[in-house]
Amino acid sequence: MTGREALVQRWHALKTELDTAGVSLIAVSKYTSDVAISCLAHAGQQAFAESRPQALRDRARCFPGLDWHMIGPVQKNKAKYVARHAAMWHSLEDIEIARAVAKHVHGRSLPVLLQVNIADVPRQHGVPARQLPELYEQVRRLDGLSIVGLMCMAPRTGDARACFRRLRCLRDSLADGSLGELSMGMSGDFRIAIEEGATMVRLGSILFGAETLGRGTLHAQT
Ligand SMILES: *Cc1c(COP(=O)(O)O)cnc(C)c1O
Repeated sequence: MTGREALVQRWHALKTELDTAGVSLIAVSKYTSDVAISCLAHAGQQAFAESRPQALRDRARCFPGLDWHMIGPVQKNKAKYVARHAAMWHSLEDIEIARAVAKHVHGRSLPVLLQVNIADVPRQHGVPARQLPELYEQVRRLDGLSIVGLMCMAPRTGDARACFRRLRCLRDSLADGSLGELSMGMSGDFRIAIEEGATMVRLGSILFGAETLGRGTLHAQT
């Protein structure tokens, strides 16, 4: 089996599992090649994610027919890339950056998720849970952004299930429970996230395969 066939096979198995659970698959392509993206796009994958604003812009230009999700930290001077190219912004954690992005959104409403530092670990990304209601109220007033849910990353060590459960509770208590989306779960913990109510999982390594990460294996076989 070629690398491409193995990739499509992995995608198909994961996609079937997630479809059955009613959960969206976001293919995290930050470590993979354009060839691998083409391959999955051809198989039917629509939603991809990048963690750096410039990479998001470059890939959105390269693949304008796909949906590009922003999942990493954004600095103010890169806000326009997110405003122009993101189909959804999962990693909104700061009101100043949100204002900078909103300023560059023209003629549409960009769906956003508020990222929560769910384990309350210092230097982790995301707003602390206690500041979430305030951030929600501030972002809600911005034209150009539309809050659709919450996002978190469970810490590498610790109780992922407790983190996911807490994020779901936070979502249910915000906005009278009107927010629908929960972006939680990565390669190592997505099945737990689904059990705890994830609506979107962000999968990189389990999909693209550790052996292809940054090494262009797929290129070599084309
Ligand atoms: C890289 C990344 C992922 C995917 O991680 P894997 O463990 O490779 O599935 C998901 N979410 C965020 C925010 C990431 O930066």
